[in-house]
Amino acid sequence: GEGVAAPAIRTTCAYCGVGCGVLARPDGSGGMTVEGDADHPANRGRLCSKGTALGETVGLSGRLLTPLVGGARASWDEALDLVATRFRDTIAEHGPDGVAFYVSGQLLTEDYYVANKLMKGFIGSANIDTNSRLCMASSVAGHRRAFGTDTVPGTYEDLELADLVVLTGSNLAWCHPVLYQRIAAAKAARPGMKVVVIDPRRTASCDIADLHLPIAPGGDVALFNGLLVQILEQGAVDAGFAAHLDGFGAALDAASSDDLSATGLDGDLLRRFYDLWTRTEKVVTVYSQGVNQSSSGTDKVNAILNCHLAAGRIGRPGMGPFSVTGQPNAMGGREVGGLANMLACHMELENPAHRAAVRAFWQAPAMPDAPGLKAVDMFRAVGEGRIRALWIICTNPAVSMPDADAVRAAIAGCDFVVVNDLTARTDTARLADVLLPATGWGEKDGTVTNSDRTISRQRAVLPPPGEARHDWAILAEVGRRMGWFRAFDYASPAEIFREYATLSGIAGRFGLDFDISGLAAMTDSAFAAMEPVRWPVSDTRRGGRFFGDGRFFTPSGRGRLLPVSHRAPAVALGDGFDWRLNTGRIRDQWHTMTRTAKSPRLSRHLAEPFLEVHPADASMLGLSPAGLAEITSRHGRAVLRVLITDRLRRGEVFAPMHWTGETAPTGRVDALIAPVVDPVSGQPESKAAAVAIAPF
Ligand code: SF4
Repeated sequence: GEGVAAPAIRTTCAYCGVGCGVLARPDGSGGMTVEGDADHPANRGRLCSKGTALGETVGLSGRLLTPLVGGARASWDEALDLVATRFRDTIAEHGPDGVAFYVSGQLLTEDYYVANKLMKGFIGSANIDTNSRLCMASSVAGHRRAFGTDTVPGTYEDLELADLVVLTGSNLAWCHPVLYQRIAAAKAARPGMKVVVIDPRRTASCDIADLHLPIAPGGDVALFNGLLVQILEQGAVDAGFAAHLDGFGAALDAASSDDLSATGLDGDLLRRFYDLWTRTEKVVTVYSQGVNQSSSGTDKVNAILNCHLAAGRIGRPGMGPFSVTGQPNAMGGREVGGLANMLACHMELENPAHRAAVRAFWQAPAMPDAPGLKAVDMFRAVGEGRIRALWIICTNPAVSMPDADAVRAAIAGCDFVVVNDLTARTDTARLADVLLPATGWGEKDGTVTNSDRTISRQRAVLPPPGEARHDWAILAEVGRRMGWFRAFDYASPAEIFREYATLSGIAGRFGLDFDISGLAAMTDSAFAAMEPVRWPVSDTRRGGRFFGDGRFFTPSGRGRLLPVSHRAPAVALGDGFDWRLNTGRIRDQWHTMTRTAKSPRLSRHLAEPFLEVHPADASMLGLSPAGLAEITSRHGRAVLRVLITDRLRRGEVFAPMHWTGETAPTGRVDALIAPVVDPVSGQPESKAAAVAIAPF
């Protein structure tokens, strides 16, 4: 009827790890309108430019509507039988480690759970990894080393309660805009609050900064080691809290022998930062890809955690280290065990008791006892023919992986490649033997976990288009066709969520952090109406912060400081590759742009790929404003528009990571990145490539 709006459906944004609540209304002609959900604790009604434009990205143009086998239309029956048969045959011939899944932090928890169960419990391999490996694996590894589990200690409120917010390796203003807005609003209301930005570039986040430290790439460990020494020297050690910690002496020894010159910062800047940090009780240190995407990413994380532990600034209001995740469900994927080195619910593959418990719970016929291949190694194994069947779900590794040309060639050369996606047009989908039409944001139904452990519902607003199916349903159907009928007999995401929540109770009984067993008895209608809730949710624990009480999840129950020392980026400059290339996001695009590029409004912000160059460097290189530059590395090539700016350090350039394109000029910058990784986390070094630059 006239003037009667459709009721709003409460869902969660498709993009970043802030996890904003969205009110979506179908417009009756296949689209929807969106606004911020004032009742969602992550955003309280706010949305950023990307969230606001969600309604412009749900149209069906370019959508894949039927399965394709060998590029030709096929029925679901044919396609699924083929997938099940080829995986079964490959396993029979090459063993379970001859197959792999590569999944995504944009999958919902229920999709992730089924994929992980199928690979680890039934196929019997741990070769399931995720694009979250490129995003926050170093945070996971750092958390586990320090806390015993992958636990984010704080909540978003801490960002507003802090007297000092340090943003390191995080352009929060563009990458997590609503959190940035929350900090900016808190600072406006309470001008005494200070913000420090640590970043080689002077980013948009510096607009609210009292201090910007233009750190040299890779200088983070030295910087925070220097801070640890200052915490001791300025008397900022919390002696009571330190009684709950191990490793203080060794960490301090390593810290005091590190060389501050690796930071590239002058003594005055360092002193101002250290004084501010040590004199402020309520400090939150926010970190993201600038810390994680590094060949010493895990050590960088632990250098930060060391400081918060030593000063006891953790787990209390307004203080703590805070890893913010790039993707809407990177956290859910971590919780569910979507990484090749984890089991499920923060249980560990290498722990026999954890393995036995999960195996019994799943009634699983097989379970690996060692970690599988992490992303970079996984695609290397595909290229070398050690992995013969690969299933890629909801991600575009032919663009986003480091050494992207080699990854594309590896996928193209693989015997059997299945891709679930929304469109046939991604670089990866074009390489698929079997392409399965999946539902996308606005059609899917399930849960995601944001950066402060809040589990929210994503809800279907629109019906699945064409023959598209949910990822969990596709995976479960293949599991059944491979012969495991009972284990994959799921009828709904609610059913999967209940099983998952029940399993988490076992993790809770092992004394681990991730326990949502309080949600295990949810009826279908309770799941349908589920409100955002921060884990843990059990009979005894709910929400809140971790570690303020000095109790950790290590075997001894004590927190650990790690001895860490500066290491330069893995790929040295020289041999003609004399420039440091940094990569990152821009405000209005997302990943490889398969969704955001549909919105003309979002493309207006920055319409094409570019290379930021310092004016003095540009004139040295003979680059002219708005001209083209050719960038080469030992691995690949890109051609980008020159953007001359003094926001950078000399000798360093920056390019956004979103663009693709198979022919020159191409903005596919991950082709330039070396496939070198952090030795602990396996996360690639995406922010310190060595490149040559010339006018094009
Ligand atoms: Fe979506 Fe992140 Fe923007 Fe929130 S801040 S609207 S979750 S992209």
